[in-house]
Amino acid sequence: VIVGGGTAGCVLAYRLSESATNTVLLIEAGPPISGLMSRIPAALDFALHDDRFNWCYTTDPEPYMGNRRMSCPRGRVLGGSSSINGMQFVRGNPNDFDSWAAKGLDTWSYSHCLPYFKRMERFQRGGDDYRGDHGPLHVSPASIQTPLDQAFLDAALQAGHGYSEDNNGFRQDGFGLSDKNTYRGRRWGAFDAYLKPALKRENLHVETDCLTHRIIFDKKSAIGVEYDLRGEVIQVYAEKEVLISGGSINSPHLLLLSGIGDTEQLKHHGLPVVQHLPGVGKNLQDHLDLRIQVKCKEPVSHFPSTKGIGRLAAGLRWLVTRSGVCATNLLDVAGYICSRAELEFPNIQSTFMAIAASYDGSHSFAGHGYQAHIDLMKPTSRGSIKLQSANPKKAPSILFNYLQAEEDRRAVIEGFKLTRVLLAQQSFDKFRDGELLPGSSVNTDEEILAWAKVSGETEY
Ligand SMILES: Cc1cc2nc3c(=O)[nH]c(=O)nc-3n(C[C@H](O)[C@H](O)[C@H](O)COP(=O)(O)OP(=O)(O)OC[C@H]3O[C@@H](n4cnc5c(N)ncnc54)[C@H](O)[C@@H]3O)c2cc1C
Repeated sequence: VIVGGGTAGCVLAYRLSESATNTVLLIEAGPPISGLMSRIPAALDFALHDDRFNWCYTTDPEPYMGNRRMSCPRGRVLGGSSSINGMQFVRGNPNDFDSWAAKGLDTWSYSHCLPYFKRMERFQRGGDDYRGDHGPLHVSPASIQTPLDQAFLDAALQAGHGYSEDNNGFRQDGFGLSDKNTYRGRRWGAFDAYLKPALKRENLHVETDCLTHRIIFDKKSAIGVEYDLRGEVIQVYAEKEVLISGGSINSPHLLLLSGIGDTEQLKHHGLPVVQHLPGVGKNLQDHLDLRIQVKCKEPVSHFPSTKGIGRLAAGLRWLVTRSGVCATNLLDVAGYICSRAELEFPNIQSTFMAIAASYDGSHSFAGHGYQAHIDLMKPTSRGSIKLQSANPKKAPSILFNYLQAEEDRRAVIEGFKLTRVLLAQQSFDKFRDGELLPGSSVNTDEEILAWAKVSGETEY
């Protein structure tokens, strides 16, 4: 029994049902994926607003972000967050995995993970020592879409950064073209790659629109789950095992609802304690995103495709040819950099967009512009997931504690300064028409931090 038909759940269902000796039940809280907008790579803002497919969580007031309740989207649909995400295919830095191994997770070193990374993907440029070309997950390399994308890559070299042929290959550090989870111009998430091909198997059964309420235990062993089968609460028992793949918010939430967690918290909500495990819901972390926006002198950004006839034309082109601006996630070039020299490996993801707009479209500049993102890839601030109620339909309390740690505040300041230097390079001279955000009034460390507090968002 697998709870959660999201990114991991689709892979589990596909791999486990490959063996005829397994009978697999996959239970998903959300609906099957549907609609054109979930297919169009450039329509990320629609995916983020569509509450049919999104848990639409918000955090508790974030104490280091001016007590703002911040948006925390998560997929609630077959394919999970891979059905609503930004489609940027970033494997992670080898050192990330090796540092987990160094902490005792021997089988999570990069060399252990590499065969699985390769087995997973079908990279359009072909396989090599680092990339796979036979897996179910199509990965497409991005291409330069506008002169602004090229200016960004040129600026990186002018500012002294390196170039990487393949950020998911031998060398992550440096700037280059990104990879994306698209295939023939449309989103290619875990549903398309894994679940869809497995649906015809007789030993796989998928339930959608079914919220799992709790895991059923026999003493300390998980033996089944209780879930809401579209209005009727039923119990199902596993012959072999129960797997929880509800994602980083919902998996700990479900464990807590099932009596696995801190005794005091469970008792406070009147839940019977199956196991005192105080770590459940702790150590929550997220990537913070900031962006510097610049007005553009030349009419070369993606802006015309966001409104009126330009938007219609871009949509029609995609419908007919699956190409053009709608076929890209608009995140075509990026870099991975260390915010200061003594760091061993990159802590900042520097993504560029040839448009001045937030991911969800809520803060868009009505004109030609571009923006460089400063994403904290190694946050040290830690938050938590806690119960708000014993009612499984009530969202948990979510707190990331963004910018709690001095190291993260330092990375923001350093990343901001490096990004401004990038955008000031000669390659942008013919495009630059003044900084829109945060603007010339933000310069000192204190001003940068104050701005980060009011404008930072999740990078998921
Ligand atoms: C808006 C957004 C943009 C992102 N952009 C990128 C990107 O560009 N690149 C990148 O690499 N990563 C990105 N990510 C992150 C990435 O998508 C996630 O890390 C990944 O999809 C998580 O996979 P998962 O299997 O852990 O959880 P999910 O894919 O979220 O799956 C969990 C599933 O479990 C279901 N579920 C939860 N609780 C229950 C329950 N009680 N009963 C039944 N079902 C339940 C959920 O509905 C969901 O379908 C983004 C994430 C978001 C939200």
